[in-house]
Amino acid sequence: MAFDYDKYLRPGKLPHIWCPGCGHGIAMKGLIRAIDACGLEKNNTAIVSGIGCASRLPGYVDFNTLHTAHGRGAAFATGVKMAKPEMTVIVVGGDGDGTAIGGNHFIHACRRNIDMTYVIFNNSIYGMTGGQFSPCTPTGALASTTVYGNPDPTFDISKLAIGAGATFVARTTSFHATQIDKLIAEGIQHKGMAVIEVLDDCPTTYGRRNKFRSVIDMMKKLKDNAVPVAAAAKMTAEQLEGKFLTGVLFKEERPEYTEQYAKVIAKAKAKGA
Ligand code: SF4
Ligand code: MG
Repeated sequence: MAFDYDKYLRPGKLPHIWCPGCGHGIAMKGLIRAIDACGLEKNNTAIVSGIGCASRLPGYVDFNTLHTAHGRGAAFATGVKMAKPEMTVIVVGGDGDGTAIGGNHFIHACRRNIDMTYVIFNNSIYGMTGGQFSPCTPTGALASTTVYGNPDPTFDISKLAIGAGATFVARTTSFHATQIDKLIAEGIQHKGMAVIEVLDDCPTTYGRRNKFRSVIDMMKKLKDNAVPVAAAAKMTAEQLEGKFLTGVLFKEERPEYTEQYAKVIAKAKAKGA
């Protein structure tokens, strides 16, 4: 039987604004399937975003949703989780929103290991705001602000998340649609900060400028360069050149922030504060 997406979509809000061929719709469907697989209740689930194409997602789904200021998804989500630790909190947003404007909030949510799931849609560009280069734009790529080629080195979001302290980090792509829901579900079930990087395609703002002839070309690149973690173990550094790993990249158990904070409150109360 076909999966019933309608029961999680907000009535009257579709069609969405995403361009034909945009990977964000594929990622949104993966998120919905993950929520369904985890059996989350709508009233006990919050989906929070900043600003950008990916950040329009909360407007289309029927949960407790917050569409906040640019880069502030993780900050607002932290507030929700601190006020309601029993709630499942999910952040969605793009690479520009999450790693430039919101980079500070992102790394500190990772550092605290607060129990939330951050699904970051990495299409290597600021899509909605005019095609400016983001920290994830490949070196040499064209953007509206790097018309002669991007001179900057590129952030690896997953490595950034691991380095900052996230305790579950996974990567997939919009080509690997059936892997998206599995990794997000694992992230939701993990106690602590879970980051799922979805490399996806922006055919309009990134693709056209960088001479991709079609969405299929962009998808092919995602397919051809993805290497599952298990397969990478058997490959040489030379064979891995230009590729990226997919699957669960890092997982560890570490005390979760709201639980640590509850202990602080209990101590303060015991002292009559
Ligand atoms: Fe998707 Fe790019 Fe269009 Fe934004 S501009 S909706 S990221 S294809
Ligand atoms: Mg982007």
